[in-house]
Amino acid sequence: MNCGIYIHIPYCIKKCPYCDFYSVIYDDCSASEYTDAVISVIQSYKGRRADTLYFGGGTPNLMGAERIGKMISAAKACFGLSADAEITLEANPESLRRQDISAFKKAGVNRLSMGLQSANENELSSLGRRHTNEDVVYCVREAKKAGIDNISLDLMLGTQGQSKASLLNSIEFCAALNVSHISAYMLKIEPNTPFYKKRALLDLPDDDEAAELYLFAVNELERRGYKQYEISNFARDGAVSRHNTKYWRGEEYVGIGAAAHGFENGERYYYGRSVKDFIASPLSRTSDGEGGGFDEFFMLNMRLCEGVSLSELAQKFGAALPQSFYSKIENFAKAGLIIKSGGRISFTPKGFLISNSIISDLLYVLESYD
Ligand code: SF4
Repeated sequence: MNCGIYIHIPYCIKKCPYCDFYSVIYDDCSASEYTDAVISVIQSYKGRRADTLYFGGGTPNLMGAERIGKMISAAKACFGLSADAEITLEANPESLRRQDISAFKKAGVNRLSMGLQSANENELSSLGRRHTNEDVVYCVREAKKAGIDNISLDLMLGTQGQSKASLLNSIEFCAALNVSHISAYMLKIEPNTPFYKKRALLDLPDDDEAAELYLFAVNELERRGYKQYEISNFARDGAVSRHNTKYWRGEEYVGIGAAAHGFENGERYYYGRSVKDFIASPLSRTSDGEGGGFDEFFMLNMRLCEGVSLSELAQKFGAALPQSFYSKIENFAKAGLIIKSGGRISFTPKGFLISNSIISDLLYVLESYD
């Protein structure tokens, strides 16, 4: 089976106060050394085939089309990336608009994922984002002109000052741009971020209000043709992220770069959070143990709206699923949290809101079964 390739690009112009992704301030010389280090890892692979390549960050567009093109060429040569491979570049609209977007397309990028977060100025400024709506409009227009039609925008839910009306404005902004994909993530206050330090001062929606915003977003996105296919992801005309779907299906992917994670030959692994260490020793990574077990399979697949097939689940479990498991499912279905249909189970949008606790509950039933 073809795997995916994830390349972490750990550079940003400035740190956003809520973000805990690993990144350092962009430096041109370091970016060139980093590119060489990534290519040396790519070239260490022989005989593995891939059909998706994802540049995540950080702010990957800061690398420029030439370096991105070199990494894509190396991946094509070593992983036999096919002509229809999905090649995604995460980008920040503020810096991307100062670049030649068509050069990224020529380098091989055919999918763009941009952090819009909100189309409302007050929300953007409370998130410490410096781009404008005009930057986003410009980048989407230029990307489409260059032939990149598969464009995703990120929206953030549960931010300071967000209301249903302001969220609707952001959703309508995305829909008017006619992008093919939208990711809508709930703001999480992560330790070791400036937001965490001043969390007591942040005026964030409480859990019930945040849940309402999520259900509102699901409904409004669906009304505009963005079909939910994962807990936080919505696509028009089947433009699902092929790369990210590999994660949720528990499929294997090669991870490369500082702070990147990967899953190969049944083993999960990660790289340390240091650009310097990665450049000095690009092939050294740390094992995170065996992956692909039953719990992981269940948790990851239940993120998808298609859920899991009960027969596949039983096969992974190694025995028929116990009656107590089915009784739990019936109760969750009666409560409108789970759908049971065509031999599969999946979450409703309401179920997604408490999916962690439902999954723990179901796993507990299975673990207690003798
Ligand atoms: S949110 Fe994006 S642009 Fe902001 S610091 Fe994190 S990775 Fe960089």
